[in-house]
Amino acid sequence: MTKNKIHVDTALLPGGWAASVVIETGDDGAILSVTADSAPQGCDHIGGIAVPGMPNLHSHAFQRAMAGLAETAGPPGSGDDSFWTWRKVMYGFVERLAPPHVAAIARQVYVEMLKAGYTAVGEFHYLHHGVDGEPYDDPAEMSERVIAAAADAGIGITHMPVLYAHGDFGGAPAQTGQHRFLNDGERFIRLVETLRARHGGGSGGDTVIGIAPHSLRAVTPELLRGVVEAFTAMDSPKMEGGPIHIHIAEQAKEVDDCLAWSGRRPVAWLLDQGMVDRRWCLVHATHMDGDETAALARSGAVAGLCPTTEANLGDGLFPAPRYLGQGGRMGIGSDSHVSVSVAEELRWLEYGQRLVHRKRNLLAGGPSQKEDQKKGQENQEDQADQAETRSTGGNLYRLALAGGAQALGRPTGAIAPGRRADLVFLDENHASLVGKTGDAILDGWLFAAQGNPVRHVMAGGRFAVRDGRHEGEEGIAAAYGETLKALMAG
Ligand SMILES: [Zn+2]
Repeated sequence: MTKNKIHVDTALLPGGWAASVVIETGDDGAILSVTADSAPQGCDHIGGIAVPGMPNLHSHAFQRAMAGLAETAGPPGSGDDSFWTWRKVMYGFVERLAPPHVAAIARQVYVEMLKAGYTAVGEFHYLHHGVDGEPYDDPAEMSERVIAAAADAGIGITHMPVLYAHGDFGGAPAQTGQHRFLNDGERFIRLVETLRARHGGGSGGDTVIGIAPHSLRAVTPELLRGVVEAFTAMDSPKMEGGPIHIHIAEQAKEVDDCLAWSGRRPVAWLLDQGMVDRRWCLVHATHMDGDETAALARSGAVAGLCPTTEANLGDGLFPAPRYLGQGGRMGIGSDSHVSVSVAEELRWLEYGQRLVHRKRNLLAGGPSQKEDQKKGQENQEDQADQAETRSTGGNLYRLALAGGAQALGRPTGAIAPGRRADLVFLDENHASLVGKTGDAILDGWLFAAQGNPVRHVMAGGRFAVRDGRHEGEEGIAAAYGETLKALMAG
């Protein structure tokens, strides 16, 4: 195996910040060894600051092309703009997308993610079929376009085909605009099996295949149980189980409709089924009461938080202080891609709480939070390797690394032997970072950077971004531009 050695001045390791660090990577994309206080001889001397690359646990790649198109209020009397009016715009946009469009858009947004410091993406993929609602000759056509786009950009992907079978709670028929998303359980499982056969199901490589029941609106209880059982049976004995993601409680209306249907709120209903464990990621668990918050924290599942999209859509505010205070796991996603920025997601996670509670540093963790974690949680191994910290940026960055890695079923999120070599190199001379040490580096980046201090990005052992540039970015941006012009003209 070919070995590569890089040397950095400072690195964020599982035990804390270390100086003069040599990181050795293998040609399989994994980290072989990490040695602090080591001389740069024989290394590619990168200098600067290395931190683990951030997993982006929730993406709908095609939505990048419609970001900004739903920021116009309707005419007077047309009703309030909401998630539901945004969804109408999105459905209209979906009608125009062909496979080459999706490929060009996905390549563009994946390059943007890498430049922002995301080294892996969880693609919650629901655009399966042709404009007429019929599967393509290869039913996995759209999935393949997205997976190939990730490979072209050089970002790791956990691809999760979405099961969308119904239009609302209780098995209601699908609605206008949803026909390109629809599968029954059988056709869905065939799609997952096909993708796993082609790309491998296990973690460790660049592609991981999971599943995503779209929401409780889109499946019946029997269908949900059936596909989770079928997917679980597919897992190789070596794996803990592949990722299972679901949109859960994004909208107040969704909670009301779920109550009317079942007498239970969405998170409570799902947890009642006895299926949720650490394979699961509950995306937009925005609307939870105190009992649901505590139960989700205890479950070992990850809450998938998308603060900039949730703000853009007017969803509501996730109860982060209470959830994290009870040891809940979380990761971040750029979702609709109104923002593709690690810093903005984590900053707005904290800022939303500051605005509501009129206090500061609400998500800094600390002694009281650690106590609650000890009481509340069994699976602590991922969080045990966090250094003691009271830095808000430091705490949020570490939590989102651990939760993101878990949710995507990927050995990433730490600079340690056996993990993927997913690394972000920050510019130590950037105005937001210069002179800072330890977690103040993360606070400077997340809360105070004008522009982007990410200098280089390595994903799976390969440099995808060097000196702020992705090697394919001009061609990818040009193809994206042509695609956008065609879509907007059509
Ligand atoms: Zn989503």
